[in-house]
Amino acid sequence: MSDDRLIVALDVPTFDDAKKLVKNLGDDVNFYKVGMEVFYSVGGQIIEWLKAENKKVFLDLKLCDIPNTVSEGLISLVKKFKLTSDDFLNVHANGGFKMMKISADRLREEIDNAPKLIAVTILTSIDQAEWKELGHASTIKEDVIRLAKLTQNAGLDGVVASPREAEIIRDACGKDFLIVTPGIRPAGSAVNDQSRIATPAEAIKHGATHLVIGRPIRAAENPKSAAVEILKEMNSIE
Ligand code: C5P
Repeated sequence: MSDDRLIVALDVPTFDDAKKLVKNLGDDVNFYKVGMEVFYSVGGQIIEWLKAENKKVFLDLKLCDIPNTVSEGLISLVKKFKLTSDDFLNVHANGGFKMMKISADRLREEIDNAPKLIAVTILTSIDQAEWKELGHASTIKEDVIRLAKLTQNAGLDGVVASPREAEIIRDACGKDFLIVTPGIRPAGSAVNDQSRIATPAEAIKHGATHLVIGRPIRAAENPKSAAVEILKEMNSIE
């Protein structure tokens, strides 16, 4: 059983660990998230290897800088790693409308068959108290909707958000917008450092298009059966 709505977070420190996990999950998982941990330690060869294994890649580097730096940085990544429309890349929506719009425009101008560009709204580890501490008077929900609409108006393909916000984003942004949700915890599994979480079934029910799942699979006694259980749960929702 495989389903490209499941993206497994390859948050491991070495190339060997990454290869071991991908081989272990085999044909059940086709989509991997390459984040800071593995990209900074292993480098680009992890992406080249995943592509050679016919896997899709979500390169999760969460770029946040001035418009020129982010847009040209994205183009460098796409060219260097030959990312295509099967793959995802991301920026932080908090980098602002101009940064997101210039990035989306430049990718379309410069790259045929460009990867999907999505933006992180508010990290799923942040709760309302921490959001307030950062100086925001509004609620996380209000700000997630504002940032999702900003992302859509800037011409991006979707957002990364908590599964708890998927429904309000779907209502605000319509049916074609990608909603990629980390913060997924099957019933009974450890919450770790996440905060605004939901089960795989709840996330799909609320409109998530893709689920990013790391520790509930990676740290399971049997990662392959954990992935298969999650796939079953996702596919039980119409
Ligand atoms: O192990 P766990 O399932 O919590 O992994 C979630 C993954 O999703 C991590 O790689 C983390 O970097 C990423 N992520 C997140 N919250 C966001 C964006 C990405 O947890 N808002």
